[in-house]
Amino acid sequence: MISKPNEHIILLGGGVAGLATGLELARRGRRVTVIEKGPVAGGLAQTFEYETPAGVFRFDIGGHRFHSHKPEIIGWVKDLMGADLLYVPRISRIYLSNDGKAGGKFVDYPLQFPGALSIFSPGQAARILSSYAAATVRNRIDGSGPDVSFEDWVVRRFGRALYEVYFEPYTEKVWGISCQELSADWAAQRISLPSLSEAVKRAISPGAAPPATIISHFWYPRLGFGMIPDRMKSEIERLGGQVILGTGVTSVVPQVEGGFTVTVDDGVGQHQLNADRVISSIPMNFLLASLPADSGSRAVAEDFKLRYRDIILIYLAIKAPQVSSDSWTYFPGRSLLVGRTHEPRNWSPLMTPDGYTSLAAEVFTSQGEPTWEQPDEALVQRAADDLSGIGFMARGSLQQGWVRRVRFAYPVYDIGYADKVKAVHKFLDQWSNLHLVGRTGSFRYMNSDGVIEDALRLADYLTGVRGEYVDVSKTYKVD
Ligand SMILES: Cc1cc2nc3c(=O)[nH]c(=O)nc-3n(C[C@H](O)[C@H](O)[C@H](O)COP(=O)(O)OP(=O)(O)OC[C@H]3O[C@@H](n4cnc5c(N)ncnc54)[C@H](O)[C@@H]3O)c2cc1C
Repeated sequence: MISKPNEHIILLGGGVAGLATGLELARRGRRVTVIEKGPVAGGLAQTFEYETPAGVFRFDIGGHRFHSHKPEIIGWVKDLMGADLLYVPRISRIYLSNDGKAGGKFVDYPLQFPGALSIFSPGQAARILSSYAAATVRNRIDGSGPDVSFEDWVVRRFGRALYEVYFEPYTEKVWGISCQELSADWAAQRISLPSLSEAVKRAISPGAAPPATIISHFWYPRLGFGMIPDRMKSEIERLGGQVILGTGVTSVVPQVEGGFTVTVDDGVGQHQLNADRVISSIPMNFLLASLPADSGSRAVAEDFKLRYRDIILIYLAIKAPQVSSDSWTYFPGRSLLVGRTHEPRNWSPLMTPDGYTSLAAEVFTSQGEPTWEQPDEALVQRAADDLSGIGFMARGSLQQGWVRRVRFAYPVYDIGYADKVKAVHKFLDQWSNLHLVGRTGSFRYMNSDGVIEDALRLADYLTGVRGEYVDVSKTYKVD
């Protein structure tokens, strides 16, 4: 057992990672304190409420559905949430057109062939199929070469034509960098190869077996995903642990005798807390900045700069019973500001007042880019104009809009990121009682199910249930 039963563990960050790890350790008898900079628990997984004369509109940061391929993880969340979890059908569509402009078509997402071919001209459809067939043959003959970039990975498996119409536009819109700069790791983790290959094969020979199914349903809490971190917080407190909100960690100083002094700022003043062990889920850059300069942390941070992608959420309150029945709708076209929308009322009827629906529109951008700097009203207007311009929402149905800018939304898997992450780990290894957990803190792209599993594996390792720490991100797949 690595962690002694009576030790005090401080968790930096009160998102899903910090809270799930804190909860598991509290359940196993450890004294835990979670420090969260934001005013509420949950980090990227929180739910916001907007009061209006018509009632309350609730929105997640981008719509968080819960799903896992592991019964243990689903069971863990179900035990926590009980009857508050709804089981929701997953219906996704993508708007494909000549650069997102009006006149395009909504088709099932991920693409279902041969139906999806109808959106292309006969010449383009033939080009997609022949380039896929040629790529498959080439890959069979010489499929051993290493894929460096996202583009390499996709073109090798699906051919250049499908890459150009389907993969490239949306991926570049999300990440803001070229697919040649994005690591092949991202494609390998994200693209469900069997289902898409089977789908394309069906287009060539319609008698072929049906495509492997993607998940058809997911779990969602009645009042928004934020109920899950809120419940974790109350459970920690019920077990005697502390979750301190509105308080940022400013420094983490290792002590000669082995523990850490953690300095926090609650906006009124600075306070010092002592910990036997520290578990960080705050952005890696912040952790490095809070360690003493004489440990070499600044040089590591400078040499191994890791990029995070930010996001803007445009929330639209709409006077209509429903915009569409989609769980998610994807808009890859570059001329449209919005990259993806979801309609919260389709996930739980309690997300909007009766007689109203809403859309949460995701705009992929980062601090410092021109879109980030636009005034809120201009962003709301642009999103409403774009979405009504292509006939997605009815013109004039917009009642009100709100905007949220969220930093550190996605770790960017650009080429070379894996070596940088390894180097940061190597540097941090000098402290055996300092650990990383989760998505933001350890720079590993995982949804909340992967983050919860990571928290459980870390708690297992620290409390001696397992002899070694299992890195769940190595086998994690997002679908
Ligand atoms: C647009 C979008 C859509 C998503 N959709 C889904 C989905 O459908 N399903 C799903 O399962 N997952 C989804 N995810 C992923 C999910 O949000 C993450 O996997 C999960 O929330 C990550 O949790 P975390 O605790 O690792 O990181 P975070 O949530 O980033 O938590 C880190 C916390 O550290 C805090 N912090 C930062 N600096 C300090 C400091 N100095 N002191 C104290 N605290 C600090 C932050 O405020 C934050 O609360 C989505 C994410 C995004 C961005």
